[in-house]
Amino acid sequence: MRIFRYVFVVSLASVGNYVLAQPVATDFSLPVRPASGYYDAGPFLSVYQGKYHMGEDWNGNEKGSSDYGDPVYPIAVGKVVKISNITKKDSVGKFVVVKHLLPNGEPIFSYYFHLSEISVALNQIVYPNQPLGKIGDANGYYKGSAHLHFELRRVNQTLSSSYAPTLLIATEQKYLDPSLFLDDRANKVTMNLTANTWFRSKNKGIEISDYTPAALAYVTCHGSTRSLGSAVEAGWIDPSIWTDKSSLDGDWEDSLVFGPEIDFRIKAFQDCILTIVIPGNNFQAERARDDMIKVANRAGFTRVKLGTLTNLGNDGTGFYYLRSLCFDNGANTGVGCLVQATAYDGPLLRYVIWYEPATNTGIGDWSELDPNDID
Ligand SMILES: [Zn+2]
Repeated sequence: MRIFRYVFVVSLASVGNYVLAQPVATDFSLPVRPASGYYDAGPFLSVYQGKYHMGEDWNGNEKGSSDYGDPVYPIAVGKVVKISNITKKDSVGKFVVVKHLLPNGEPIFSYYFHLSEISVALNQIVYPNQPLGKIGDANGYYKGSAHLHFELRRVNQTLSSSYAPTLLIATEQKYLDPSLFLDDRANKVTMNLTANTWFRSKNKGIEISDYTPAALAYVTCHGSTRSLGSAVEAGWIDPSIWTDKSSLDGDWEDSLVFGPEIDFRIKAFQDCILTIVIPGNNFQAERARDDMIKVANRAGFTRVKLGTLTNLGNDGTGFYYLRSLCFDNGANTGVGCLVQATAYDGPLLRYVIWYEPATNTGIGDWSELDPNDID
């Protein structure tokens, strides 16, 4: 969380009012609608012609080019930071890049490729109910199979990496799993905080249906939105937030979790709305993959070994899902393998252990991951 804090301060300092002027993105939805009218023909990290696909290919249910000309929507409020209106027939085609500002001050970038038409301008603030363009076939490159290639990136880097031949950890960390990201932010509970009054969830009948980290919660006060952490730092919220299940003491940011039967108490210094986001699919493999990549990266590995994510099922005790993934630093170097365990009854409880695949034995101890280390 210290890194988070540092990034937030720097981004405000370096670009001044510009960042503050851009609305914060809190409501996300797929760029094709209704979602039930489309399917993901090329999932994130699927392998195509020996390369990893770093986005999702949204195609109409009628397949082929049935979706040609369908509207494409921004996934959330944001600012158009790149437009390419080229007419060249190539694998990219016309595209738009939108920068979204998250409540914690970090940006993410959504990419919409292969468009047949673009209806927004550079630097325009776009809203999720206004189409930014239309589905196309990359000026004929995908003739007969028009679709939207949609990506989410943490950085607005060059376009050549939409396909990754080798899954370097450094590459993968620049990308977000689009559907996982959207799904994690779809389910929310909001509550009104009255100025200078302790809000207690139990007394208000607030029940959070699943476990969620404080990192995903945000507050809106007088029209401005900040993550809960940065709202505390800004003096909007009393730092002594309390829950009756906080087993970790001290720094609330690293330990605070909301969830079923967890009573919590919070006080704002002005009238605010608190929104608690409840992530939807913590049990899924991508979360485990992300956890293991972070741990392997810290241990000095640079590359994810091809296709090694293995679902080991549950551990027989009924408490955990287990998954494994191996890493190396390129050809002829040592391999390291990790197992990640996710608790059934608390999806934010995740553990990793190194293991020796030849003998199927663990090396060292299980270590618990920070529940707020969510993406
Ligand atoms: Zn694609």
